[in-house]
Amino acid sequence: MALDDSRALVLFSGGQDSATCLAWALERFETVETIGFTYGQRHSVEMDQRPIFLDALRAGFPDWARRLGPDTVLDLAALGQVSETALTRETEIAMTEAGLPSTFVPGRNLIFLTYAATLAYRRGIRHIVTGVCETDYSGYPDCRDDTIKALQVALNLGMEARFVLETPLMWIDKAGTWALAERLGGAALVELIRDTTHSCYLGVRDREHDWGHGCGTCPACELRAKGWERYRAGGA
Ligand code: ZN
Repeated sequence: MALDDSRALVLFSGGQDSATCLAWALERFETVETIGFTYGQRHSVEMDQRPIFLDALRAGFPDWARRLGPDTVLDLAALGQVSETALTRETEIAMTEAGLPSTFVPGRNLIFLTYAATLAYRRGIRHIVTGVCETDYSGYPDCRDDTIKALQVALNLGMEARFVLETPLMWIDKAGTWALAERLGGAALVELIRDTTHSCYLGVRDREHDWGHGCGTCPACELRAKGWERYRAGGA
């Protein structure tokens, strides 16, 4: 299978990390497509923010707008059917006996990346970009560098292809992610990400903080707030 080295597909959820990855890809590749997934999330706020962010990105960054191709949203309802977690059910966000937060959807990134590779194969896209990170993550094992590298090998063997799974955030923390956004698109991109992306697990959108919108107390909000503080203090 011949894949085009100048093309990328970004897993874009509507959150801070994947929005930064999208800007990273737009700096590097000639054409960039996006893909997102619905799987029975407990709220649709992140998914609702996706087109808002994409429209604002096109309006504010004309050079990137020319490179930004189609957006695909895949319905993975079956994943919601088989996973019993705080991301897909109205259950408390807490630590489980396995030492993982109850927001963990087992295998989610493996499934997302496999579907992304299926689309990339059809489109002839070599680079698949994901915002996974093992620096200040929540302990999700499918975000680890080794997991992603193993999956790259499995996908390339299983599809007889040479995909590259790109993980620009793997070794930086949340403060570093804000700093990366600033390097890529200046203060305008930082403000766009701050204002229009969504991280809060509870889907709170009507409360605004320095670091963006959210409940302010769930683990995702805490992580985002701490990263923003360190970034603003110049610690990134
Ligand atoms: Zn929150």
